[in-house]
Amino acid sequence: MSKTTREENIRRIIALEDRIYQCRRCKPLLRCIKKPSLGKGDLEPAIMLVFEFNSTFSADIKNLIELRNLIKKEFGISGIYHSFMVRCQPKACTVRDTVSCYAENKLLDKENNNCILTGKACTGIPVRPSCEEIIACLPFLLEEIDILSPRYIIFFGERVSEFLLKSYGIFDYDIEPGSHFKYGNMILLTTVCEEKFGSEECRQLSQVLGKNL
Ligand code: SF4
Repeated sequence: MSKTTREENIRRIIALEDRIYQCRRCKPLLRCIKKPSLGKGDLEPAIMLVFEFNSTFSADIKNLIELRNLIKKEFGISGIYHSFMVRCQPKACTVRDTVSCYAENKLLDKENNNCILTGKACTGIPVRPSCEEIIACLPFLLEEIDILSPRYIIFFGERVSEFLLKSYGIFDYDIEPGSHFKYGNMILLTTVCEEKFGSEECRQLSQVLGKNL
């Protein structure tokens, strides 16, 4: 990819991230997060990994490095970028639910990530995003994919596969892990959620790739 295209990608990704930071579509989520989760990795990716949200698994950099190395080794491809279908982590929280606070301000203090309602560390439990939150956030991911236009995209988990395939107009399918679909120049691959993804699932996908290279 030429230098100019790379610079163009960087410019467009920065502009996208600015809009994600300013997004107010899911107000209830914004109160209990420090910042939305952004994509990371090579800006000329051959493969893009899509997770449903920034789970405790993907939030641990060790897990991400292990997953990326597994894919690099099995596929023999280095340029990898990962991102999320929903950027703001939903949390279930009894404290927040029992306090009738109508203000929309953040409930996490800037310094220590403590909850301003209890003065203690946040006890909110990360939960999966609702369909409304996925639909609200999906346009950011579709734009990110359009900017980076990877050759392969791996969808981790049934919900990511379902929402992304539908976004690309692919309806007639059974979402079996290890399935592949073509969309323009891209090959879309489905697999299990990242916590369950191991060398066997990786080999299954690389065999699909092998047939499609
Ligand atoms: S989850 Fe996405 S759509 Fe919702 S507020 Fe965060 S960035 Fe905006």
